[in-house]
Amino acid sequence: MTATNIEQDGADTCDAVVVGAGFAGLYQVHRLHQAGLRVRAFEKGSDVGGTWYWNRYPGARCDIESIVYSYSFDADLQREWKWPQRYAEQPDILRYLQHVAARFDLRRHFSFDTSVQSAIYDEGARRWRVRTSSGEEISTRFLVMATGCLSKPLEPDFKGLAQYRGARYQTSRWPHDGVDFTGKRVGIIGTGSSAIQAAPLIAQQAEHLFVFQRTPQFAIPAWNRALTDEEMRHAQDTYDEIRRLVRQSEVGIAYASPDHGAKEASPESLRQQLEFAWARGGYLMLAAYPDVVTDLESNRLVSEWVKEKIRARIEDPALARKLMPEYPMGAKRLCVDTNYFETFNRDNVTLVDLRDSALDGFTERGLRLANGTGYDLDAVIFATGFDAMTGALLAVDIRGRQGLSLREKWRNGTLNYLGVTVSGFPNFFMITGPGSPSVLYNMVASIEQNVDFVSDTIDYLRQHQFASIEAKPREERAWTKYVDWVSRQTIYTKVKSWYTGENVDGKPAGFMPYAGGGLTYFEFVRQAVADGYRGFTLAG
Ligand code: NAP
Repeated sequence: MTATNIEQDGADTCDAVVVGAGFAGLYQVHRLHQAGLRVRAFEKGSDVGGTWYWNRYPGARCDIESIVYSYSFDADLQREWKWPQRYAEQPDILRYLQHVAARFDLRRHFSFDTSVQSAIYDEGARRWRVRTSSGEEISTRFLVMATGCLSKPLEPDFKGLAQYRGARYQTSRWPHDGVDFTGKRVGIIGTGSSAIQAAPLIAQQAEHLFVFQRTPQFAIPAWNRALTDEEMRHAQDTYDEIRRLVRQSEVGIAYASPDHGAKEASPESLRQQLEFAWARGGYLMLAAYPDVVTDLESNRLVSEWVKEKIRARIEDPALARKLMPEYPMGAKRLCVDTNYFETFNRDNVTLVDLRDSALDGFTERGLRLANGTGYDLDAVIFATGFDAMTGALLAVDIRGRQGLSLREKWRNGTLNYLGVTVSGFPNFFMITGPGSPSVLYNMVASIEQNVDFVSDTIDYLRQHQFASIEAKPREERAWTKYVDWVSRQTIYTKVKSWYTGENVDGKPAGFMPYAGGGLTYFEFVRQAVADGYRGFTLAG
């Protein structure tokens, strides 16, 4: 740090502060540094990785194929990197992000083990005043929140938890040295993606695994396997084409689906197409037909077919009934599994259906249900989810013009423009914020698009000597209303989920991501820019 970087009151000055060192933060820092900005970046963890730094539970892996769940911004990086498996495991994804950080020399911009506590906009100076957990103050012109959509875990809040004497773990805060469950009676609470990935592996180790299920989930087999050298080489050689197809898709994965809806298909062609989608496996089951998420009847046809497939994986029909989801497939985030349903065929696995009797709380020795049944457990794993999309943003006290806090502004919902900016918060950007496709798209591709927009916008401001950019209130209201309207044309609003915020007590209900498709969203952004940043105020 040079003397010129220090304001009179001791605050370090820089051009941009970036919060987070996951896929988003790393690429954002890279872009801004490349553009010649002085960047300071902060990360709560001790190293890079974001989601992949924290979520180290057994079985953690991506649910989008690694060939496309990777950066596209550097041709050499993608030509050289080899993914060992179709869906890479957490250690491999973390190794990749560490490699990216080293390759582009990004760690030097970061302060690790440091969280940003507040960011207050000084209207006179037109700068953000950022305060960190280490007590440092930074004065910055631009503030970019690359804090992730699923990074603020819900803290376990169960009656009697303090008296429980066994070991406790949380999938999203897993010990770095791993956990040995050999000979242990283990309980896992939750049946979302995290539990669905973890349970099969923990069952192989534990003496007994109890799965506490409140809502059965849809899971589609990943059919994960090692990638051959030839497959990887082919991907490396044809990456330009692969990325082009990704960018042309509404979900950020290259695929082709029929040009008609499921309900228009004859029974035989429906069966063939669904068998084809099933054999491909994973998240793309939702794209088996273009109307799976927009038409309830088409969704019902596909959901019922998938349920038959699930039923066939479970030996005991009574158990199969308990594991059967009862909502439109995809309305809660579709899970991608390896041996999840087969795990319940094991003698050492018990499903505890909390719809029969709710969880009452903890005792010294384990868990108790409302009907009095007790489960003695050596260890409990909380796979209970996140305060998604807004949790990490609102964990920071962010105040824009006239001291208005983002928490206050979003008290009744996530007002934003294009998912990236908020009116009243100049030069403030969110990567994959509410109102952007984010979690309904390939996250890495979504991140790259948002980061490119932010970086290009900052470049534009500097070139045209604008001091700041800010969403106009009218456009912000229109965009937020439109995002809400789009979500109501889909199945996503038919059930409570973390998409809608209803998994968190007291959080305003409202579907947060943009459900109109990535391609459509990118076009909105492109048009706004082409029209001279329509919807934004650019101040001199
Ligand atoms: P989640 O999908 O929100 O699942 C949380 C689970 O805990 C749900 O089954 C929920 O039941 C249950 N639960 C919460 N509070 C409970 C309580 N008090 N008593 C009983 N059950 C309770 O969380 P997640 O599994 O961590 O996944 C979150 C998201 O992260 C995923 O949807 C996905 O987008 C992402 N993720 C991705 C991967 C991957 O494959 N790459 C892996 C893990 C996570 P209800 O459904 O009844 O609320």
